[in-house]
Amino acid sequence: RLVASGYWPSTPVRPTFAFSLDLLDFYLQLFADCAAPSEAFCETLRQFHGAKEVYHCNDKGHPIEDPFRRPWTSAVQWYEIAKSSMQAAIEKTIYQERCRLLPALPDSTDPSGLEVLRQGRASMRLRQLCPACFASSEWGRDVRTFPDVIIQLDGNFHHRRNTSGGQSPVFYEPELFLDDAFVASIGKRMEDQRAAHRGGQPSPQFALPEEVVAACKESFKVAHEKDSHGMPGFHDEKGLVVGSCVHDIPLVVCNITTPGERQMYAIAIIQQIMAELPAPATLGLLYDVGCVLDHSCDLYGYLGALRPRVTMAVSILHSYGHQWACQLAYSPRRRAGFGLANGEGSERIWSRHRRYIPILRRSGKQKRVFILDRKFLHSAAVGRVSLGRWMRRRFKFLASKTQETKRILHASALSSPILEDQLAKQRLAAVSVRSLAPKQVHTKVQSFMKLQNDIEDLQVSIQHVRASLERDLGPSKARTLLSQMTESWDLLVARGDQLYAELGVEEVYPRLRGVPPGIVQNLILARNLKTRIRKRVAERMWERARLNRAAGGVHQPIGQKLFQQIKNGLTRRSGALNRAVKQFNTYVHSIRQLYDSSWGIALPQALVEQELECPAEDHDIWQDVFLSQESPAEPWMMDSTVREAITAHLISRRCEEEGRRLRLYATNMAQW
Ligand SMILES: [Zn+2]
Ligand SMILES: [Zn+2]
Repeated sequence: RLVASGYWPSTPVRPTFAFSLDLLDFYLQLFADCAAPSEAFCETLRQFHGAKEVYHCNDKGHPIEDPFRRPWTSAVQWYEIAKSSMQAAIEKTIYQERCRLLPALPDSTDPSGLEVLRQGRASMRLRQLCPACFASSEWGRDVRTFPDVIIQLDGNFHHRRNTSGGQSPVFYEPELFLDDAFVASIGKRMEDQRAAHRGGQPSPQFALPEEVVAACKESFKVAHEKDSHGMPGFHDEKGLVVGSCVHDIPLVVCNITTPGERQMYAIAIIQQIMAELPAPATLGLLYDVGCVLDHSCDLYGYLGALRPRVTMAVSILHSYGHQWACQLAYSPRRRAGFGLANGEGSERIWSRHRRYIPILRRSGKQKRVFILDRKFLHSAAVGRVSLGRWMRRRFKFLASKTQETKRILHASALSSPILEDQLAKQRLAAVSVRSLAPKQVHTKVQSFMKLQNDIEDLQVSIQHVRASLERDLGPSKARTLLSQMTESWDLLVARGDQLYAELGVEEVYPRLRGVPPGIVQNLILARNLKTRIRKRVAERMWERARLNRAAGGVHQPIGQKLFQQIKNGLTRRSGALNRAVKQFNTYVHSIRQLYDSSWGIALPQALVEQELECPAEDHDIWQDVFLSQESPAEPWMMDSTVREAITAHLISRRCEEEGRRLRLYATNMAQW
């Protein structure tokens, strides 16, 4: 009777309060858009009534401090559950009718023959979430050239929940959240697979050398450790991982419950999505550490039978965290099938939900899942409504990209077979053993550089002392006094020469035979310095990324204190970077002055410090160009315009894929 007259009770039996349905709807919208906490809303209600001199009193006639909070919270919760189950019932009825009216599509179970498209449908849930991605009725496109669906994965460690929030009884069946027990069972199975591997099988052929993958893994591990500063034992849920489509629509979400192990969340999400797709479906995955995950899947067989139908790439946003050899293999710009997708959408999802972080940190386990699930569904609905606008924007973007790459390719006058050939050689050079400087050489170069600095410092101080002594005592006396200093300087120089001879540069880099020793020395020093500069730049970009994420997006303002802290850190470090860049350019300059093209070595490019503020993913700083080949130098090494043309060539191919994908989205949406 209450509901029929437009009110919703605070409890199912013997309610003391009932709230108007309009007010509840208004609040739900307010919460979805502004994350207004219920405490604040109840306070507003109290003040609002107080201004009209309406008070809620207890038995003794005294006004109650906080009359609305408990009944309101409970009414909101049950009202929202009722609404969502009503929606589910309606959708189920429509679905049943549709099944009755439309001829059934056979669901293929034969995974062989990937080239042939097969009839089949994704689950109702996925089709409703993103019709553009999932409403297709044909599946099984070649995973190596054009996977059926592209999704992006990302973790966030800000969405923690304090253990003290407690567990509440289950009252809601989430649509996006994976069950913690399911994820744990996947983790257990992965553990078994790792143990079985230790039993000793021959390792399969990998896309990348082990040390490259290890370096990528390390760089992200460090970044994540800085990110997840939660206290051990203090948080039950330590964060969230969300799998979304390229339209920023969340598809699957899971809680991070264990520190350390991260791959199981990714595997759980992939398995969930694949389980909801027809058997021949293929999947492209964009993930921060896609390279590491791909490697582990090959090594331990995590994905089992799904493996041949899943391809992975790394998100462009954090490409600076990857080795150059890894970027050559895993950048979505260099990997067929990913079109212009970049994996940045998850950032937008996080920024939309960051307002709920403080509200949900102290809430109960089930309540948090309930609220987050509803919020993610809300942003999915918003995303679905704006799919048309997304398409229009994307077509525009595609047109401008296509034009730009055409211009660069035309100017370079290089044909696409030549560029393909150069591309293959570039990739090969990056993973060849020689290009990874041997460790012992590296340490020797380090000490050589240190010695070089000492020699220079000493020389400067000798000059200073000599100048002042000569002024005060006359040249002859000064010379005797200085002889000891000069001796130690000679000693240092001799030690430097010896160390340089020990470097064994010619054996390590036979191609450098015939190049004057001074040049070789500068080349090696420049290369080492560039590695250091690259590391610094990457560190700075990590810092920025953390800053942006703390703020909830690039364009969000953050607290003054945090801003100052990080800014000070950045300025302090930029001084060191500045000096390193200057030194590097000095090396480049000295090589350039004596350069002889008959040496057949590539000239390193000077660095521009302003460009290092935020270098693009194909910027020269990420590329290892000189000193890496044993065979005669290739055009891509010698000429930066060839490298630019290679990038343009790659992007033009991604543009073709993007065009094909946009047409597929349009067909899917029309079909839906
Ligand atoms: Zn989508
Ligand atoms: Zn990598």
